[in-house]
Amino acid sequence: MDNDCVFCKIAAGIIPTVKILDSDQVCAFRDLNPQAPVHVLVIPKKHFPTLAEMASEPALLGELTSAAVGLAGELGLAENGYRLVLNCRDHGGQTVYHVHMHLLGGRMMRWPPG
Ligand code: AMP
Ligand code: ZN
Repeated sequence: MDNDCVFCKIAAGIIPTVKILDSDQVCAFRDLNPQAPVHVLVIPKKHFPTLAEMASEPALLGELTSAAVGLAGELGLAENGYRLVLNCRDHGGQTVYHVHMHLLGGRMMRWPPG
């Protein structure tokens, strides 16, 4: 755990958040500043600053994706579709340096992103 990391604190329950998924290695919660009617963040409980540090953990990356797809179904997004986003470093738009997958849905998404 990184003591300065907000998502480590959420994963550990130090910052109270309603978790909509809480498994051994992964958890998910609503984004504080939602960009769509459904905006959920799915994170590994272990601290990885960026995707680069997580590249050696393909099983965990797979679990993150499976969790997001499962939640999309549970939240009613499967039929119309949804977007999964994983921002990496500055040019990718990453602001929180603990890997997280955005699950966005409930409206039509634009492409390409800005
Ligand atoms: P990114 O720009 O990909 O790093 O996304 C970081 C996301 O974390 C943003 O969408 C923020 O709104 C969200 N966020 C930051 N702090 C919190 C928090 N305490 N609880 C929930 N979401 C948060
Ligand atoms: Zn962290």
